[in-house]
Amino acid sequence: MSTVRPFWLHEPCPTWCDQFHEGDLDVSDRRHVSDDARTILLSTEDMKVRGQVPHKPSDYQPVELVIYLDQHVREVGPRIVFDQLPGDRKMVHLLPTEARRVADALLAMALLAEGNKPGTEDSDN
Ligand SMILES: [Zn+2]
Repeated sequence: MSTVRPFWLHEPCPTWCDQFHEGDLDVSDRRHVSDDARTILLSTEDMKVRGQVPHKPSDYQPVELVIYLDQHVREVGPRIVFDQLPGDRKMVHLLPTEARRVADALLAMALLAEGNKPGTEDSDN
């Protein structure tokens, strides 16, 4: 692991950061992103379609939610990101098992953001 930081990073990364920081990033891309990202497959959402018409079977992909931590280097703390919402959707449909996975992922990211290791059940708040 390299100890050399890009010129724009004045402090060490948070412990949860994936530390993939390149020196030539635009200001808006200078972010810490968690190494730990949770993916939840959404079985009742329409599949994503890519590629040109006529589509091949490999153009169809199931929708996945990705939940991770993100913090711009100028922000004081991380935020939990819900990423890859299907299309321009503002609403997501979850089966109960999927909702449990989302809840587990949110809890894990909250623990990580608070400096705790996900998976350890320390509920001392
Ligand atoms: Zn970082």
